[in-house]
Amino acid sequence: MTRLQAETVPNYQMFIGGRWVASHSGGQYAVFNPARGSVLARVPRGDAEDVGAAVDAAKRAFEDQGWRKMDPSKRGRILFKVSQLLRERLSDLAKLETLNTGKPLGQAKGDIAMSARHFEYFAGLADKVQGSTIPVPGNRLDYTLKEPIGVTAHVVPWNYPLVMAARSIAPALAVGNTVVAKPASFTPLTLLKFAEACKEAGIPDGVVNVVTGGGDELGGALIGHPDVKLTALTGSVETGMKVMKIASSNLSRVILELGGKNPHIVFADAELEKATTAVLNGIFTNAGQMCWAGSRLLVEAGVKDALMTKLVAGANEMKLGDGLEPDTSMGPLVAQSQRDRVADYVAVGTAEGARIAAGGAAPTEEELSGGYYYRPTILDGVTQNMRVAQEEIFGPVLTVSTFEGQDDAIAQANDSEYGLWAGVWTRDLRKAHTMAAELEAGIVAVNEEPITFPQTPFGGFKKSGNASEQGIDAVSSFVRVKNVSVNLD
Ligand code: NAD
Repeated sequence: MTRLQAETVPNYQMFIGGRWVASHSGGQYAVFNPARGSVLARVPRGDAEDVGAAVDAAKRAFEDQGWRKMDPSKRGRILFKVSQLLRERLSDLAKLETLNTGKPLGQAKGDIAMSARHFEYFAGLADKVQGSTIPVPGNRLDYTLKEPIGVTAHVVPWNYPLVMAARSIAPALAVGNTVVAKPASFTPLTLLKFAEACKEAGIPDGVVNVVTGGGDELGGALIGHPDVKLTALTGSVETGMKVMKIASSNLSRVILELGGKNPHIVFADAELEKATTAVLNGIFTNAGQMCWAGSRLLVEAGVKDALMTKLVAGANEMKLGDGLEPDTSMGPLVAQSQRDRVADYVAVGTAEGARIAAGGAAPTEEELSGGYYYRPTILDGVTQNMRVAQEEIFGPVLTVSTFEGQDDAIAQANDSEYGLWAGVWTRDLRKAHTMAAELEAGIVAVNEEPITFPQTPFGGFKKSGNASEQGIDAVSSFVRVKNVSVNLD
């Protein structure tokens, strides 16, 4: 790196107890701009001691009662203020998200707007989480109280750095918990900026804390901390299993939002133009780094050739580039390691007998040579027994298989250890609803692009997770229920 670059790389700090701090060891690490492979910033490399300080701050803020016993309408207004600040800063935050993840700016703007929407939605719920009175025998009054549970940990992936954090932090705060958040080590920047907004909005010191560093280094200290009462992890199945094991030492609650290998099912009677757009967006948005990517195309044999022609043309037309360039339709992968992973899977697929119908390599253009780009890729001739049909590639790779009739579509779609999302394209209403009922997925989209809202549940079946986030019921994950029985005699 040149001297000038070294001087202009900003240093970020962690946010603990309402203060910006370095790691106690003074250690830092570099985060990169994946479009160029250049250093974007330096952030503290936290360790168990830093995690301990953050959990202590969150515990004190919980015990202090200023947040949890606050008039819930006021708590809601503060959360609403957070959402307003995110909207006011949308341009800057989206630019930072693009610089750190590589995603096109338009997609990053959508992420920040969605983060603000999560805060708006749960701000409105802050004074609506209520218990019930229960009819019981005798002269008794029986009722329930819904109480916050304490310090909650939020462990966040790198594909949607701010929005995945906002999705679980907003309901946790709405009901009066305190928070220690850990961004993915590749992409910590927008979550640190979010902490700034929390402070400005009036969230008391210690209620929101952000620690940075590696998952394996911080994970045990955070999730296994005796004062952490709940962990919300969005990440891979492998990490989910580790987190559950760590949490078992305290029997603390675990909310897991994990990976997917999602079928996008196109019947012969589908509107092919619309289906084509949805299939392309479903796999190439965010360079395919999406838990709910429609990564497995199942197409009814009769329309396979027609659909493939459109998909291959669409994939080849995509413009790879820096997410800040206005004509970029797909950015780089987040890191060299992710690009290697994608390339390895494409090699596995071809060795298994799949045929590359589009992409299948990194681009060769000189201007893309510094970044972690990989071409939008379509693997044809894929069958259920292949690894590329079963394992989450987490990149811009669509596998294509054919089916014959509804039962075959259901059988292939459900032949997966994952169960997060499924898309169905048909004009037949009966078929559509039968598919929705039979598919083993927490989210089903019918004649619809992958779309979600703060008010609609988002969660996976099978190894894709153990809970739903978003929606009115999401708050119940973040409260404990107390039953009070009063004898009136
Ligand atoms: P990951 O599992 O590698 O990491 C997720 C988070 O866990 C990161 O913050 C990481 O530092 C942390 N972590 C890693 N090891 C840990 C450990 N031993 N203890 C505690 N924390 C640890 O996942 P990723 O690569 O960041 O993200 C991609 C994965 O996330 C994919 O599988 C994707 O499908 C999934 N994902 C799921 C959803 C959903 O809503 N279901 C959304 C986005 C991403």
